[in-house]
Amino acid sequence: MPRHNTPAHHGDWPPEGVDIIRSARRTRTVQARHKGDRIEVRIPARFTAKQERDAVGEILAKLAKKSTSQRASDEELLARAHTLNRTVLGGRARIGSVRWASNHNTQWGSCTVSTGDIRISDRLKDTPDWVVDAVLVHELVHTYIPGHGPDFWEQADKVPHAERAKGYLEAYQRFGPN
Ligand SMILES: [Zn+2]
Repeated sequence: MPRHNTPAHHGDWPPEGVDIIRSARRTRTVQARHKGDRIEVRIPARFTAKQERDAVGEILAKLAKKSTSQRASDEELLARAHTLNRTVLGGRARIGSVRWASNHNTQWGSCTVSTGDIRISDRLKDTPDWVVDAVLVHELVHTYIPGHGPDFWEQADKVPHAERAKGYLEAYQRFGPN
């Protein structure tokens, strides 16, 4: 299959959908943000063409990595719930469906005990994995222990970084995105 071998011309620069803005006010830092369906990257005005390519390539890679983790799917969440049930709770939880949900304004998660259906707020998609794990385990424990008595916390606090996750969520509630 003959493939056109594109020489290293500058025709493919900047990358599709990317606007590069040189800013005299910037000295070293590079910043990227989504603007509509385009990505705007700001770089110091004094950057050479090579520095520009390196810096923009690096920040786009970072951005792509971030959006991959944000796309975490319902399937992954369900798989995570099963893993946590096995590794943290000794398989005691009864798991129905597990999905991300967008209609949780005040709660991080919810659980319907009769069906074992668990919903996790999609506001948590940007948080570290151990935070999502803590919320998942909280809801998993509710499938066999209602309420928040000592027996509940004895189970729920088995998740790694349980206390740290509580602190994180408290701060996230107050200062995080809505
Ligand atoms: Zn609860």
